Amino acid sequence: MKKNISIVGAGFSGAVIARELANAGHKVVVYDSRDHIGGNCHTERDLATDIMMHVYGPHIFHTSNDYVWNYVQQFDEFIPYINRVKSIYNGRVYSLPINLMTINAFYGKTLSPKEAQEYIQSIGDRTVENPQTFEEQALRFVGKELYEAFFKGYTKKQWGLHPSELSANILKRLPVRFNYDDNYYSSKYQGIPRNGYTQVIQNILDHRGIEIKLNSTFLRDQAEGFDHVFYSGPIDAWFNYSEGRLGYRTLDFIIERHEGDYQGNAVINYGNEEVPWTRISEHKHFAPWENHEKTIIYKEYSRQCLVNDIPYYPIRLIGDKTLLSRYVQKAKNEKKITFVGRLGTYRYLDMHVSIAEALNAADCFLNSQETGEEM
Ligand code: UDP
Repeated sequence: MKKNISIVGAGFSGAVIARELANAGHKVVVYDSRDHIGGNCHTERDLATDIMMHVYGPHIFHTSNDYVWNYVQQFDEFIPYINRVKSIYNGRVYSLPINLMTINAFYGKTLSPKEAQEYIQSIGDRTVENPQTFEEQALRFVGKELYEAFFKGYTKKQWGLHPSELSANILKRLPVRFNYDDNYYSSKYQGIPRNGYTQVIQNILDHRGIEIKLNSTFLRDQAEGFDHVFYSGPIDAWFNYSEGRLGYRTLDFIIERHEGDYQGNAVINYGNEEVPWTRISEHKHFAPWENHEKTIIYKEYSRQCLVNDIPYYPIRLIGDKTLLSRYVQKAKNEKKITFVGRLGTYRYLDMHVSIAEALNAADCFLNSQETGEEM
């Protein structure tokens, strides 16, 4: 039977669920409080330069999941793109993630892969047995000097916390390589949509069973008018912050326009703590197939997310996790609501993971309709 579905949030999670349910014949209304779709993946052309801006900071699509990769191809052409990040520390430029080029440049050596591995092992702090914190993980795997150059300052700026207070998991996102492979991601597929992420999401939402309501904050009372709600907003906001606020980092961008090429690369990180920004992204380099004489850069500053700021990174400290578990308990008691996505589940999710989970949430719903079970 055809159901009336409300989806809160028009980012990847909401859009994918909306599409899957509309494909199955349900009637879907997507609400977003902002004046655009796409969530934090939103892209738009800069009026002054015509460059495609990643409005909420750089997004590079990468995944090893064949299904997700094939799924997104239906909605735009993804042009192969390899993210090759640089890092500046004490006035010198290095290659990231830490690879043989980084190690040799940093120590002024010409080590082979095997020699580099032995060398890094010899400087790694092996007294740290079972690393729990970001700092322990870094000290064990790359030693004090590389940790201080590439991770310590950046991470303090990014998270507003000392790496000894952060989980080792954050660092596990980054590999250390003993060859010259400077591809930031290890995923099987990487690409940037030719027409930007907002166009991808627009195409996902382009279905006659889907209605989109922008500038519309969905209120709890409105849920009564629907058979089911998929909510990708902040889980604590849904419960009116009854247990307290979950901690997030937000980002500020100082945007500058220049002639020509500003930094010669899409992303350059800054390892020194004294440099106030974490990184500079130069957006035309995310679309190397386009030609632009001018350029636009984003200097990125991270800070604590306050009440009216846009949440970016869930901090997930112990206190946050305790709060989260209370919200998850409350969520379990809610009938007919599914919490999805980065904000709905309070996790640091890459785009491809959000999509995979959204496909799964839609499947669960559709199966529950067939079996008559409640979700
Ligand atoms: N990180 C770092 N130095 C860098 C880049 C990253 O210390 O030059 C740490 C930082 O704590 C960051 C984490 O590694 O939050 C994950 O980095 P990633 O590049 O995946 O972060 P994102 O692009 O998602 O912000």
